Amino acid sequence: MNINENYQNLEESYLFSTVAKKVNEFIQKNPDKKVIRLGIGDVTLPLCKAVVDALHKAVDEMGIQATFRGYGPEQGYDFLREAVQRYYLKRNVQLELDEIFISDGAKSDLGNILDIFSKDNTVLVPDPVYPVYVDTNVMAGRKVIFADANGENEFLPLPDESVKADIIYICSPNNPTGAVYNKEQLKKWVDYALKNRAVILFDAAYECFVSDDSLPRSIYEIEGAKECAIEFCSLSKTAGFTGTRCGYTIVPKALGKLNKFWLRRQTTKFNGVPYIIQRGAEAVFSEKGQAEIKENIGYYKENAKVISDTLEQCNIWHVGGKHSPYIWLKCPNNMTSWDFFDYLLENIQVVGTPGSGFGKNGEGYFRLTSFGSKENTIEAMQRFKKLFS
Ligand code: PLP
Repeated sequence: MNINENYQNLEESYLFSTVAKKVNEFIQKNPDKKVIRLGIGDVTLPLCKAVVDALHKAVDEMGIQATFRGYGPEQGYDFLREAVQRYYLKRNVQLELDEIFISDGAKSDLGNILDIFSKDNTVLVPDPVYPVYVDTNVMAGRKVIFADANGENEFLPLPDESVKADIIYICSPNNPTGAVYNKEQLKKWVDYALKNRAVILFDAAYECFVSDDSLPRSIYEIEGAKECAIEFCSLSKTAGFTGTRCGYTIVPKALGKLNKFWLRRQTTKFNGVPYIIQRGAEAVFSEKGQAEIKENIGYYKENAKVISDTLEQCNIWHVGGKHSPYIWLKCPNNMTSWDFFDYLLENIQVVGTPGSGFGKNGEGYFRLTSFGSKENTIEAMQRFKKLFS
């Protein structure tokens, strides 16, 4: 046998293991100091009541002969796909049920979708960004090129007509920068994709954090997008499903064979999301569920505001936080990302994530998240103020 040697080309990911190692060493040396973690990319608030009630009800159904369910449809139960369909309709996006695929989260689908594309495609990935896009393509041996995101373009790169790409990743609101594209900017990408017969893989995992109605939450709010874009959504950050696992992917039929191929891929390699979880996910889209998750997102957004107000007062350049749980800041005094990490840990025991871990353009930047508790976020920012003012 021959193994997939492309795996040798993956760069080791030391980011979160190095963060954990450094923090643990610090705690061992300074057991009396309180370390505050503002680096986490995971939610901390529990599932909302509407979801928990729906999960309980579904568990009971599974214990009764008359309502027990075995294998479900690989692409998801109609009750959940209809809930997603109604959710899109609120933003005037009309989807057919067989364009909606329920998944166990965006990460799996973002990787799995590559099964339906040829190895010869050139892939365009923004830098910095969520590392999964690069790694999944390296595993398949595809050529990856980068679109530079930096302070000059406010971390929102636009298409370069001189660059030819077949598969384009867009993450908006962005992890790690928190930057979000407006409709005019997204239209430029849609036009580029249509002109170049490229496909956009649009990662909308943080769409729920967009608070300005004029900003797009789905790429299908842009004319022409159904002919060139696949959209990935997740209930992880929206509704606290990081451990519960559920998401959905939209593959429009206007993309021709891709819709049929994705269905074929999923029915062959995937056996669906558990019934119980899909009932919990359905409850996210109920009136009660929407009100409850809005409250949770509001909590995280208040934390984000505390962080960005403090950075403003300390004259530290930053973006994000308004339509995203992430705040992306420029390390003061030209420190590197890791120097700044050490500086914060040593001096004020606040932990964030070095920007260099998200791509070469992340060097000199730093990511803070609003997923911590309100009390810890406020305390961390008081420490920031003391250190920088
Ligand atoms: N996409 C982005 C941009 C993310 O930041 C994450 C998780 O952090 C995911 C996708 C993964 O989402 P899921 O939990 O649905 O797999």
